[in-house]
Amino acid sequence: MQVYNTLTGRKEPFEPLEKNKVKMYVCGPTVYNYIHIGNARPYIVFDAFRRYLEYKGMEVAYVQNFTDVDDKIIQKAQQENKTMREIADQYIKEAFKDADGLNVKRATAHPRVTEEIPAIIAMIQILMDKKYAYEVEGTVYFDTQSYQEYGKLSKKNQEELEAGARIAVNEQKRHPMDFVLWKPKKEGEPAWESPWGQGRPGWHIECSVMAKKYLGDTIDIHAGGEDLVFPHHENEIAQSEAANEKPFAKYWMHNRFLNVDNRKMSKSLGNFFTVREVAQEFPYEVIRFFMLSAHYRSPINFSRELMEAAQNGLERIKTSISNMQYIIEHSNHQELTQEEQEKIKQLPAFRKKFEEAMEDDLNTADAIAVIFELVKFANTQVTLESSQILAKEVQQEIQSLCQILGFFENTMEVTLEQEIEELIQQREEARKRKDWALADQIRDQLKAQGILLEDTPAGVRWKRINE
Ligand code: AMP
Ligand code: ZN
Repeated sequence: MQVYNTLTGRKEPFEPLEKNKVKMYVCGPTVYNYIHIGNARPYIVFDAFRRYLEYKGMEVAYVQNFTDVDDKIIQKAQQENKTMREIADQYIKEAFKDADGLNVKRATAHPRVTEEIPAIIAMIQILMDKKYAYEVEGTVYFDTQSYQEYGKLSKKNQEELEAGARIAVNEQKRHPMDFVLWKPKKEGEPAWESPWGQGRPGWHIECSVMAKKYLGDTIDIHAGGEDLVFPHHENEIAQSEAANEKPFAKYWMHNRFLNVDNRKMSKSLGNFFTVREVAQEFPYEVIRFFMLSAHYRSPINFSRELMEAAQNGLERIKTSISNMQYIIEHSNHQELTQEEQEKIKQLPAFRKKFEEAMEDDLNTADAIAVIFELVKFANTQVTLESSQILAKEVQQEIQSLCQILGFFENTMEVTLEQEIEELIQQREEARKRKDWALADQIRDQLKAQGILLEDTPAGVRWKRINE
Protein backbone atom coordinates (compact mmCIF):
# COMPACT_ATOMS: atom_id res chain seq x y z
CA MET A 1 0.00 0.00 0.00
CA GLN A 2 1.22 3.47 -0.89
CA VAL A 3 0.29 6.72 0.80
CA TYR A 4 1.27 10.26 -0.01
CA ASN A 5 3.26 11.67 2.89
CA THR A 6 3.19 15.46 3.20
CA LEU A 7 6.38 15.24 5.26
CA THR A 8 8.45 13.76 2.45
CA GLY A 9 6.37 15.15 -0.40
CA ARG A 10 5.93 11.80 -2.12
CA LYS A 11 4.03 8.54 -2.15
CA GLU A 12 5.64 5.95 0.07
CA PRO A 13 5.00 2.32 0.96
CA PHE A 14 2.80 2.19 4.02
CA GLU A 15 4.50 0.21 6.75
CA PRO A 16 3.19 0.69 10.27
CA LEU A 17 5.75 0.89 13.06
CA GLU A 18 4.39 -2.28 14.57
CA LYS A 19 3.17 -5.03 12.28
CA ASN A 20 -0.60 -4.99 11.80
CA LYS A 21 -1.13 -2.22 14.33
CA VAL A 22 -1.83 1.34 13.26
CA LYS A 23 -1.86 4.40 15.47
CA MET A 24 -3.72 7.21 13.86
CA TYR A 25 -4.59 10.73 15.01
CA VAL A 26 -7.01 12.96 13.12
CA CYS A 27 -7.54 16.56 14.23
CA GLY A 28 -11.16 17.16 15.14
CA PRO A 29 -13.46 20.17 15.12
CA THR A 30 -13.83 23.18 17.36
CA VAL A 31 -17.29 22.75 18.78
CA TYR A 32 -19.35 25.92 18.62
CA ASN A 33 -21.63 25.05 15.73
CA TYR A 34 -22.83 22.10 13.67
CA ILE A 35 -20.05 20.61 11.56
CA HIS A 36 -20.15 21.85 7.98
CA ILE A 37 -19.84 19.78 4.87
CA GLY A 38 -16.15 20.79 4.52
CA ASN A 39 -15.40 19.41 7.99
CA ALA A 40 -17.14 16.21 6.91
CA ARG A 41 -14.44 15.56 4.31
CA PRO A 42 -11.65 14.54 6.71
CA TYR A 43 -14.22 12.69 8.81
CA ILE A 44 -15.28 10.56 5.86
CA VAL A 45 -12.01 10.06 3.97
CA PHE A 46 -9.97 9.05 7.00
CA ASP A 47 -12.81 6.83 8.19
CA ALA A 48 -12.64 5.10 4.80
CA PHE A 49 -8.89 4.74 5.23
CA ARG A 50 -9.33 3.26 8.68
CA ARG A 51 -11.97 0.84 7.44
CA TYR A 52 -9.70 -0.28 4.64
CA LEU A 53 -6.81 -0.91 7.05
CA GLU A 54 -9.17 -2.92 9.24
CA TYR A 55 -10.39 -4.84 6.22
CA LYS A 56 -6.73 -5.73 5.58
CA GLY A 57 -6.57 -7.17 9.08
CA MET A 58 -4.90 -4.29 10.89
CA GLU A 59 -5.87 -3.14 14.32
CA VAL A 60 -6.36 0.60 14.23
CA ALA A 61 -6.19 2.87 17.26
CA TYR A 62 -7.89 6.04 16.04
CA VAL A 63 -7.93 9.23 18.09
CA GLN A 64 -9.88 12.35 17.27
CA ASN A 65 -10.03 15.32 19.58
CA PHE A 66 -12.68 17.93 20.27
CA THR A 67 -11.42 21.47 20.79
CA ASP A 68 -13.82 22.53 23.52
CA VAL A 69 -12.14 25.71 24.73
CA ASP A 70 -11.66 28.50 22.22
CA ASP A 71 -12.52 32.17 21.70
CA LYS A 72 -15.41 31.32 19.41
CA ILE A 73 -16.98 28.90 21.88
CA ILE A 74 -16.66 31.49 24.65
CA GLN A 75 -18.23 34.11 22.42
CA LYS A 76 -21.13 31.85 21.52
CA ALA A 77 -21.67 31.02 25.19
CA GLN A 78 -21.83 34.71 26.02
CA GLN A 79 -24.29 35.39 23.19
CA GLU A 80 -26.58 32.58 24.28
CA ASN A 81 -26.17 33.14 27.98
CA LYS A 82 -24.84 29.63 28.49
CA THR A 83 -21.62 28.20 29.83
CA MET A 84 -18.79 27.20 27.54
CA ARG A 85 -19.32 23.62 28.69
CA GLU A 86 -22.98 23.69 27.70
CA ILE A 87 -22.16 24.95 24.21
CA ALA A 88 -19.39 22.38 23.76
CA ASP A 89 -21.56 19.51 25.08
CA GLN A 90 -24.36 20.46 22.74
CA TYR A 91 -22.20 20.57 19.60
CA ILE A 92 -20.24 17.45 20.48
CA LYS A 93 -23.57 15.66 20.66
CA GLU A 94 -24.59 17.10 17.31
CA ALA A 95 -21.22 16.21 15.74
CA PHE A 96 -21.69 12.60 16.86
CA LYS A 97 -25.18 12.56 15.36
CA ASP A 98 -23.81 13.68 12.01
CA ALA A 99 -20.86 11.29 12.20
CA ASP A 100 -23.26 8.42 12.95
CA GLY A 101 -25.46 9.46 10.04
CA LEU A 102 -22.41 9.54 7.76
CA ASN A 103 -21.48 6.11 9.06
CA VAL A 104 -18.18 7.37 10.40
CA LYS A 105 -17.02 4.92 13.04
CA ARG A 106 -16.44 6.26 16.51
CA ALA A 107 -12.78 6.83 17.29
CA THR A 108 -11.12 4.66 19.92
CA ALA A 109 -10.81 7.85 21.95
CA HIS A 110 -12.41 11.29 21.59
CA PRO A 111 -10.49 13.37 24.14
CA ARG A 112 -11.55 16.93 24.99
CA VAL A 113 -9.14 19.71 25.85
CA THR A 114 -10.88 20.73 29.06
CA GLU A 115 -10.42 17.20 30.38
CA GLU A 116 -6.71 17.06 29.57
CA ILE A 117 -5.43 20.22 31.25
CA PRO A 118 -3.02 18.50 33.71
CA ALA A 119 -1.34 16.58 30.84
CA ILE A 120 -1.14 19.80 28.81
CA ILE A 121 0.50 21.67 31.68
CA ALA A 122 2.93 18.78 32.14
CA MET A 123 4.05 18.91 28.50
CA ILE A 124 4.46 22.69 28.55
CA GLN A 125 6.55 22.28 31.71
CA ILE A 126 8.82 19.80 29.91
CA LEU A 127 9.26 22.30 27.07
CA MET A 128 10.09 25.01 29.62
CA ASP A 129 12.58 22.76 31.39
CA LYS A 130 14.27 21.85 28.12
CA LYS A 131 14.41 25.55 27.15
CA TYR A 132 12.16 25.15 24.13
CA ALA A 133 9.68 27.53 25.68
CA TYR A 134 9.75 30.81 27.57
CA GLU A 135 7.28 32.77 29.63
CA VAL A 136 6.47 36.46 29.45
CA GLU A 137 3.89 37.86 31.90
CA GLY A 138 1.80 34.71 32.08
CA THR A 139 2.06 33.80 28.39
CA VAL A 140 4.20 30.83 27.47
CA TYR A 141 5.63 30.77 23.94
CA PHE A 142 7.32 28.01 22.00
CA ASP A 143 10.75 29.22 20.93
CA THR A 144 10.81 28.25 17.25
CA GLN A 145 14.48 29.22 16.90
CA SER A 146 15.43 26.54 19.40
CA TYR A 147 13.97 23.78 17.25
CA GLN A 148 16.24 23.25 14.25
CA GLU A 149 13.74 21.48 12.03
CA TYR A 150 10.94 24.02 12.25
CA GLY A 151 9.33 24.27 8.80
CA LYS A 152 10.05 20.69 7.67
CA LEU A 153 6.41 19.73 7.14
CA SER A 154 5.18 22.80 5.30
CA LYS A 155 8.58 23.11 3.57
CA LYS A 156 8.50 26.82 4.02
CA ASN A 157 11.76 28.67 4.15
CA GLN A 158 12.56 31.21 6.81
CA GLU A 159 11.16 34.11 4.81
CA GLU A 160 7.88 32.40 4.01
CA LEU A 161 7.52 31.24 7.57
CA GLU A 162 7.88 34.75 8.83
CA ALA A 163 5.42 36.10 6.31
CA GLY A 164 2.99 33.38 7.35
CA ALA A 165 3.40 34.08 11.02
CA ARG A 166 0.94 36.96 11.00
CA ILE A 167 3.45 39.41 12.32
CA ALA A 168 1.19 41.29 14.63
CA VAL A 169 3.38 43.65 16.61
CA ASN A 170 4.11 41.66 19.67
CA GLU A 171 6.83 42.92 21.94
CA GLN A 172 6.71 39.81 24.02
CA LYS A 173 7.80 37.31 21.40
CA ARG A 174 11.48 36.67 20.85
CA HIS A 175 10.73 35.80 17.27
CA PRO A 176 7.63 36.49 15.14
CA MET A 177 7.16 32.78 14.43
CA ASP A 178 6.99 31.81 18.09
CA PHE A 179 3.55 30.58 19.05
CA VAL A 180 1.50 30.41 22.22
CA LEU A 181 1.45 27.34 24.45
CA TRP A 182 -0.38 28.93 27.38
CA LYS A 183 -2.27 32.20 27.56
CA PRO A 184 -3.23 34.16 30.65
CA LYS A 185 -6.81 34.49 31.84
CA LYS A 186 -8.92 37.33 30.52
CA GLU A 187 -11.74 38.70 32.60
CA GLY A 188 -14.87 36.56 32.41
CA GLU A 189 -13.17 33.66 30.62
CA PRO A 190 -12.68 30.13 31.87
CA ALA A 191 -9.20 29.50 33.27
CA TRP A 192 -7.12 26.88 35.05
CA GLU A 193 -4.32 27.18 37.58
CA SER A 194 -0.84 26.63 36.20
CA PRO A 195 2.79 27.34 37.11
CA TRP A 196 2.44 30.50 34.93
CA GLY A 197 -0.69 31.74 36.61
CA GLN A 198 -4.33 31.23 35.71
CA GLY A 199 -4.99 30.72 32.04
CA ARG A 200 -5.74 28.25 29.28
CA PRO A 201 -3.81 26.33 26.62
CA GLY A 202 -3.10 27.60 23.12
CA TRP A 203 -4.59 25.56 20.29
CA HIS A 204 -1.64 23.49 18.99
CA ILE A 205 -0.48 21.94 22.25
CA GLU A 206 -3.67 19.92 22.77
CA CYS A 207 -3.01 17.60 19.82
CA SER A 208 0.62 16.95 20.81
CA VAL A 209 -0.58 16.04 24.29
CA MET A 210 -3.53 13.89 23.28
CA ALA A 211 -1.57 11.99 20.63
CA LYS A 212 1.10 11.20 23.22
CA LYS A 213 -1.34 10.27 25.95
CA TYR A 214 -3.61 8.03 23.87
CA LEU A 215 -1.18 6.68 21.28
CA GLY A 216 2.40 7.21 22.43
CA ASP A 217 5.39 9.36 21.50
CA THR A 218 5.57 8.17 17.90
CA ILE A 219 2.47 7.44 15.86
CA ASP A 220 1.95 6.06 12.37
CA ILE A 221 -0.42 8.57 10.83
CA HIS A 222 -1.37 12.10 11.61
CA ALA A 223 -4.12 13.50 9.45
CA GLY A 224 -6.40 16.45 8.82
CA GLY A 225 -7.37 18.99 6.21
CA GLU A 226 -4.72 20.80 4.17
CA ASP A 227 -5.26 24.05 6.08
CA LEU A 228 -3.75 22.36 9.11
CA VAL A 229 -0.30 21.79 7.55
CA PHE A 230 0.78 25.24 8.59
CA PRO A 231 0.87 26.38 11.28
CA HIS A 232 -1.04 23.74 13.27
CA HIS A 233 0.78 20.56 12.28
CA GLU A 234 4.13 22.29 11.91
CA ASN A 235 3.75 23.47 15.48
CA GLU A 236 2.59 20.08 16.70
CA ILE A 237 5.75 18.48 15.28
CA ALA A 238 7.95 21.10 16.95
CA GLN A 239 6.27 20.63 20.34
CA SER A 240 6.18 16.84 20.27
CA GLU A 241 9.65 16.24 18.90
CA ALA A 242 11.18 18.81 21.23
CA ALA A 243 9.43 17.39 24.29
CA ASN A 244 9.66 13.66 23.50
CA GLU A 245 12.96 13.67 21.58
CA LYS A 246 11.47 11.14 19.17
CA PRO A 247 9.92 11.44 15.70
CA PHE A 248 6.27 12.39 16.06
CA ALA A 249 4.40 10.84 13.12
CA LYS A 250 5.69 8.64 10.32
CA TYR A 251 3.05 9.65 7.75
CA TRP A 252 1.25 12.97 7.45
CA MET A 253 -1.91 12.82 5.36
CA HIS A 254 -3.93 15.86 4.32
CA ASN A 255 -7.18 16.07 2.44
CA ARG A 256 -7.64 18.94 0.02
CA PHE A 257 -10.48 21.39 0.45
CA LEU A 258 -14.09 21.09 -0.30
CA ASN A 259 -14.86 24.35 -2.07
CA VAL A 260 -17.88 26.41 -2.96
CA ASP A 261 -17.42 28.44 -6.14
CA ASN A 262 -13.73 27.56 -5.94
CA ARG A 263 -13.29 29.00 -2.47
CA LYS A 264 -12.71 26.94 0.64
CA MET A 265 -15.91 26.30 2.53
CA SER A 266 -15.36 27.74 5.97
CA LYS A 267 -17.21 29.13 8.90
CA SER A 268 -15.26 32.37 8.76
CA LEU A 269 -16.10 33.03 5.08
CA GLY A 270 -19.73 32.29 5.86
CA ASN A 271 -20.06 30.19 2.67
CA PHE A 272 -20.87 26.99 4.46
CA PHE A 273 -23.66 24.46 4.61
CA THR A 274 -23.91 22.33 7.70
CA VAL A 275 -24.04 18.58 7.27
CA ARG A 276 -27.41 18.73 9.01
CA GLU A 277 -28.83 21.12 6.41
CA VAL A 278 -27.60 19.05 3.51
CA ALA A 279 -28.85 15.86 5.15
CA GLN A 280 -32.38 17.26 5.08
CA GLU A 281 -32.23 17.29 1.34
CA PHE A 282 -30.02 14.29 0.58
CA PRO A 283 -29.69 11.15 2.68
CA TYR A 284 -26.49 11.01 4.70
CA GLU A 285 -25.16 8.14 2.64
CA VAL A 286 -25.30 10.32 -0.47
CA ILE A 287 -23.03 12.82 1.29
CA ARG A 288 -20.61 10.01 2.07
CA PHE A 289 -20.77 8.74 -1.49
CA PHE A 290 -20.23 12.23 -2.89
CA MET A 291 -17.16 12.68 -0.70
CA LEU A 292 -15.58 9.36 -1.64
CA SER A 293 -16.32 9.84 -5.34
CA ALA A 294 -13.28 12.12 -5.48
CA HIS A 295 -9.71 11.35 -4.51
CA TYR A 296 -8.98 12.92 -1.13
CA ARG A 297 -6.05 14.88 -2.55
CA SER A 298 -8.15 16.54 -5.26
CA PRO A 299 -10.15 19.63 -4.38
CA ILE A 300 -13.89 19.13 -4.75
CA ASN A 301 -16.56 21.62 -5.51
CA PHE A 302 -19.76 21.28 -3.60
CA SER A 303 -22.82 21.74 -5.78
CA ARG A 304 -26.36 20.50 -6.06
CA GLU A 305 -25.59 18.99 -9.47
CA LEU A 306 -22.75 16.89 -8.08
CA MET A 307 -24.84 15.82 -5.12
CA GLU A 308 -27.61 14.75 -7.49
CA ALA A 309 -25.08 12.86 -9.59
CA ALA A 310 -23.87 11.12 -6.42
CA GLN A 311 -27.44 10.27 -5.52
CA ASN A 312 -28.07 8.78 -8.96
CA GLY A 313 -24.85 6.81 -8.79
CA LEU A 314 -25.74 5.34 -5.43
CA GLU A 315 -29.22 4.56 -6.69
CA ARG A 316 -27.73 2.66 -9.63
CA ILE A 317 -25.81 0.43 -7.24
CA LYS A 318 -28.83 -0.11 -5.00
CA THR A 319 -31.02 -0.97 -7.97
CA SER A 320 -28.53 -3.55 -9.10
CA ILE A 321 -28.45 -5.10 -5.63
CA SER A 322 -32.24 -5.31 -5.56
CA ASN A 323 -32.36 -6.69 -9.10
CA MET A 324 -30.03 -9.45 -7.94
CA GLN A 325 -32.37 -10.00 -5.00
CA TYR A 326 -35.32 -10.31 -7.35
CA ILE A 327 -33.47 -12.92 -9.38
CA ILE A 328 -32.48 -14.82 -6.24
CA GLU A 329 -36.14 -14.95 -5.24
CA HIS A 330 -37.68 -15.61 -8.64
CA SER A 331 -35.23 -17.57 -10.74
CA ASN A 332 -36.13 -21.20 -11.36
CA HIS A 333 -32.56 -22.19 -12.00
CA GLN A 334 -30.75 -23.66 -9.10
CA GLU A 335 -27.72 -25.24 -10.67
CA LEU A 336 -24.72 -23.29 -11.90
CA THR A 337 -24.05 -23.80 -15.59
CA GLN A 338 -20.56 -24.15 -17.00
CA GLU A 339 -20.83 -20.67 -18.44
CA GLU A 340 -21.88 -19.27 -15.08
CA GLN A 341 -18.94 -20.86 -13.37
CA GLU A 342 -16.75 -18.93 -15.76
CA LYS A 343 -18.58 -15.74 -14.84
CA ILE A 344 -17.99 -16.36 -11.14
CA LYS A 345 -14.32 -16.80 -11.86
CA GLN A 346 -14.26 -13.24 -13.15
CA LEU A 347 -15.34 -11.76 -9.82
CA PRO A 348 -11.98 -11.77 -8.00
CA ALA A 349 -10.55 -9.54 -10.73
CA PHE A 350 -12.96 -6.78 -9.67
CA ARG A 351 -11.90 -7.07 -6.06
CA LYS A 352 -8.25 -7.02 -7.04
CA LYS A 353 -8.72 -3.85 -9.04
CA PHE A 354 -10.69 -2.32 -6.18
CA GLU A 355 -7.89 -3.10 -3.73
CA GLU A 356 -5.28 -1.73 -6.10
CA ALA A 357 -7.15 1.55 -6.26
CA MET A 358 -7.51 1.73 -2.47
CA GLU A 359 -3.85 0.88 -2.02
CA ASP A 360 -2.77 3.58 -4.40
CA ASP A 361 -2.98 6.37 -1.85
CA LEU A 362 -6.62 5.72 -1.03
CA ASN A 363 -8.00 6.28 -4.50
CA THR A 364 -11.66 5.90 -3.55
CA ALA A 365 -12.69 7.51 -6.84
CA ASP A 366 -11.19 4.62 -8.81
CA ALA A 367 -12.46 2.12 -6.25
CA ILE A 368 -16.00 3.38 -6.79
CA ALA A 369 -15.46 3.18 -10.55
CA VAL A 370 -14.69 -0.53 -10.05
CA ILE A 371 -17.98 -0.95 -8.18
CA PHE A 372 -19.75 0.56 -11.20
CA GLU A 373 -17.94 -1.87 -13.49
CA LEU A 374 -19.18 -4.68 -11.32
CA VAL A 375 -22.71 -3.27 -11.42
CA LYS A 376 -22.50 -3.20 -15.19
CA PHE A 377 -21.29 -6.80 -15.15
CA ALA A 378 -24.25 -7.72 -12.94
CA ASN A 379 -26.76 -5.93 -15.12
CA THR A 380 -25.52 -7.50 -18.33
CA GLN A 381 -24.43 -10.95 -17.18
CA VAL A 382 -27.10 -11.88 -14.65
CA THR A 383 -30.72 -12.20 -15.79
CA LEU A 384 -33.89 -14.01 -14.77
CA GLU A 385 -32.54 -16.90 -16.79
CA SER A 386 -29.50 -17.10 -14.53
CA SER A 387 -29.18 -19.35 -11.55
CA GLN A 388 -29.87 -18.10 -8.05
CA ILE A 389 -26.31 -18.96 -7.09
CA LEU A 390 -24.82 -16.64 -9.68
CA ALA A 391 -27.12 -13.80 -8.64
CA LYS A 392 -26.20 -14.35 -5.00
CA GLU A 393 -22.47 -14.41 -5.67
CA VAL A 394 -22.59 -11.22 -7.71
CA GLN A 395 -24.85 -9.50 -5.22
CA GLN A 396 -22.57 -10.40 -2.34
CA GLU A 397 -19.56 -9.10 -4.18
CA ILE A 398 -21.19 -5.71 -4.85
CA GLN A 399 -22.33 -5.46 -1.24
CA SER A 400 -18.99 -6.50 0.12
CA LEU A 401 -17.04 -3.87 -1.85
CA CYS A 402 -19.58 -1.24 -0.82
CA GLN A 403 -19.22 -2.22 2.80
CA ILE A 404 -15.47 -1.72 2.75
CA LEU A 405 -16.23 1.92 1.92
CA GLY A 406 -18.90 2.06 4.61
CA PHE A 407 -22.06 1.87 2.54
CA PHE A 408 -25.30 0.03 3.15
CA GLU A 409 -24.76 -0.70 6.77
CA ASN A 410 -26.11 2.54 8.09
CA THR A 411 -28.25 1.80 11.08
CA MET A 412 -29.53 5.37 11.21
CA GLU A 413 -31.15 5.04 7.77
CA VAL A 414 -32.66 1.77 8.86
CA THR A 415 -34.18 3.19 12.02
CA LEU A 416 -35.44 6.11 10.03
CA GLU A 417 -37.16 3.72 7.64
CA GLN A 418 -38.59 1.75 10.54
CA GLU A 419 -39.94 4.93 12.06
CA ILE A 420 -41.56 5.86 8.78
CA GLU A 421 -43.17 2.44 8.47
CA GLU A 422 -44.46 2.70 12.02
CA LEU A 423 -45.97 6.11 11.41
CA ILE A 424 -47.64 4.85 8.25
CA GLN A 425 -49.07 1.99 10.24
CA GLN A 426 -50.42 4.38 12.85
CA ARG A 427 -51.96 6.51 10.11
CA GLU A 428 -53.64 3.47 8.59
CA GLU A 429 -55.14 2.59 11.94
CA ALA A 430 -56.32 6.16 12.43
CA ARG A 431 -57.97 6.05 9.03
CA LYS A 432 -59.74 2.83 9.87
CA ARG A 433 -61.11 4.53 12.99
CA LYS A 434 -62.03 7.50 10.76
CA ASP A 435 -59.76 9.68 12.86
CA TRP A 436 -59.02 11.94 9.87
CA ALA A 437 -57.39 14.63 11.98
CA LEU A 438 -54.73 12.27 13.30
CA ALA A 439 -54.24 10.71 9.87
CA ASP A 440 -53.63 14.13 8.34
CA GLN A 441 -51.36 15.13 11.18
CA ILE A 442 -49.17 12.07 10.60
CA ARG A 443 -49.09 12.77 6.87
CA ASP A 444 -47.96 16.36 7.54
CA GLN A 445 -45.39 15.26 10.07
CA LEU A 446 -43.85 12.91 7.52
CA LYS A 447 -43.98 15.59 4.85
CA ALA A 448 -42.02 17.89 7.14
CA GLN A 449 -39.37 15.15 7.31
CA GLY A 450 -39.25 15.04 3.53
CA ILE A 451 -41.40 11.91 3.18
CA LEU A 452 -44.28 11.89 0.72
CA LEU A 453 -47.09 9.36 1.05
CA GLU A 454 -48.99 7.97 -1.91
CA ASP A 455 -52.22 6.08 -1.39
CA THR A 456 -52.34 3.42 -4.07
CA PRO A 457 -54.81 0.57 -4.59
CA ALA A 458 -52.06 -1.76 -3.37
CA GLY A 459 -51.64 0.21 -0.15
CA VAL A 460 -49.61 3.15 1.04
CA ARG A 461 -46.24 3.82 -0.51
CA TRP A 462 -43.72 6.42 0.50
CA LYS A 463 -40.85 8.22 -1.11
CA ARG A 464 -38.41 10.96 -0.21
CA ILE A 465 -39.44 14.28 -1.69
CA ASN A 466 -36.12 14.87 -3.47
CA GLU A 467 -36.10 11.45 -5.08
P1 AMP B 1 -12.00 23.17 12.10
O1 AMP B 1 -13.21 22.94 12.95
O2 AMP B 1 -12.10 24.36 11.19
O3 AMP B 1 -10.72 23.15 12.90
O4 AMP B 1 -11.89 21.94 11.08
C1 AMP B 1 -11.95 20.58 11.42
C2 AMP B 1 -11.37 19.75 10.29
O5 AMP B 1 -12.05 20.04 9.05
C3 AMP B 1 -9.90 20.03 10.00
O6 AMP B 1 -9.25 18.79 9.66
C4 AMP B 1 -9.93 20.94 8.80
O7 AMP B 1 -8.75 20.87 8.04
C5 AMP B 1 -11.10 20.37 8.03
N1 AMP B 1 -11.72 21.34 7.10
C6 AMP B 1 -12.23 22.56 7.42
N2 AMP B 1 -12.76 23.15 6.32
C7 AMP B 1 -12.57 22.29 5.27
C8 AMP B 1 -12.91 22.33 3.88
N3 AMP B 1 -13.56 23.34 3.33
N4 AMP B 1 -12.57 21.26 3.13
C9 AMP B 1 -11.94 20.20 3.66
N5 AMP B 1 -11.60 20.09 4.96
C10 AMP B 1 -11.90 21.13 5.78
ZN1 ZN C 1 -4.56 19.01 15.78
